[in-house]
Amino acid sequence: MDVDVLRKTVASLMPQVRADLERLVRVPSVSLPGFPPQHLPEAAAVVVDMLQTAGVENARITEVPDGYPAVYGELEGPTGAPTVLLYAHYDVQPPGPDEEWASPPFEPAVRDGRLYGRGAADDKSGIAIHAAAIRAFDGKLPVGIKIVIEGEEETSSHLDDAVLDNPELYQADVIVVGDIGNWKVGEPTLTTTLRGLAVCTVEVKTLRNPVHSGMFGGPAPDALMVLIRLLAGLLDENGNTAVEGIVSSTWEGLDYPEDIYRETAGLLPGTPLIGEGSVSDRLWARPSVTVIGLDAPAVEGAANALIPAARAVVSMRVPPGQDSEQARALLAAHLRASAPWGIEVNVSEGQAGPAFCAHTDGPGYAAAKRAMRDVYGKESVLMGQGGSIPLISNLAAIAPQAEIILWGAEDTAAAIHSPNESVDLAELERCILAESLLLQYLAEQGA
Ligand SMILES: [Zn+2]
Repeated sequence: MDVDVLRKTVASLMPQVRADLERLVRVPSVSLPGFPPQHLPEAAAVVVDMLQTAGVENARITEVPDGYPAVYGELEGPTGAPTVLLYAHYDVQPPGPDEEWASPPFEPAVRDGRLYGRGAADDKSGIAIHAAAIRAFDGKLPVGIKIVIEGEEETSSHLDDAVLDNPELYQADVIVVGDIGNWKVGEPTLTTTLRGLAVCTVEVKTLRNPVHSGMFGGPAPDALMVLIRLLAGLLDENGNTAVEGIVSSTWEGLDYPEDIYRETAGLLPGTPLIGEGSVSDRLWARPSVTVIGLDAPAVEGAANALIPAARAVVSMRVPPGQDSEQARALLAAHLRASAPWGIEVNVSEGQAGPAFCAHTDGPGYAAAKRAMRDVYGKESVLMGQGGSIPLISNLAAIAPQAEIILWGAEDTAAAIHSPNESVDLAELERCILAESLLLQYLAEQGA
């Protein structure tokens, strides 16, 4: 099918796409602990129905031990055609306080061409894209398709391990992860790297119990002050991560505009940026470090006492090219060495999630770039992503020959994980067309 035929077909599918997406958004499939579990199988059933209607007759729910079900399906392609694995997830983040939403989070509402609701973008839009791209071919797929829709992306995922346990299920020539977006609506973007994660907990103990700061304050080190001195050493005077030995480079793709970064991050007016290099460098090519948790007495009711023990969780984002377990060891060593006045601290190593760097010089990327060019009328730019997706690293490990393409309808205005999440419906249509063209071009190239 040529571009214009596909374009018309996709346009004709949009009322159904929107109805399906709204139906899916109405299911509050929050996967985090403490939320009603029955909505996850309910959402999975809607996904099965969407896929079957799209032509994936064998779309089915697969139970995941100790977790929420995933949805699988396969479509055979013509003999010798490449196989494409499509991934998205149906679980969502909690909505947060209702009063911060302009319309209720699980009642889809359209304003200015955007469909609002929790999960409308992350990542129910990804499911809508995959289903509609398949449907556009009306049962005559030019490539083989495997589709996996996860129910635990936003919580501890069991699928990461399932990938390692059943590698044959996930073999493909091209893997399309529809859980990302353009850096701005209408600007075609391919995400080629993900930062990894390295976490440590540091604990300081200096006294048996709290003691009167008037009677004892001075000679005795206060555990919280020790911890504060230690944590302050994580950044240098310019705000760069000070952990020695972590890869730090420059970003060659998109030059991410500071004003958009400020706006989307919600930086308060007058707050300066810290660190050196371009915004893209700092986001995608260099480490960043954050204290994400701190045990200390609350301000309310604070007593005049020396604090005997304090602890903090430190989380570092690890740039591509850096081994995350090594990064975690470097972070732990830095924390130990930063303890002041010869005080011994206890550092325990937590999570380490690998960074990812896509191979962008194969036929899969060529087809994706061509598809983007045909849809948007301009060249795509390459962007990184600040967060890690463990599943992707595992897919890269078990299918090293596969090209992994990350794209989707989660543009920077989508407010994923925040109140008033939304997806731009025109962008969603462009994403569907781009994915349909990708399938078409992969078949022509015999990737
Ligand atoms: Zn997501």
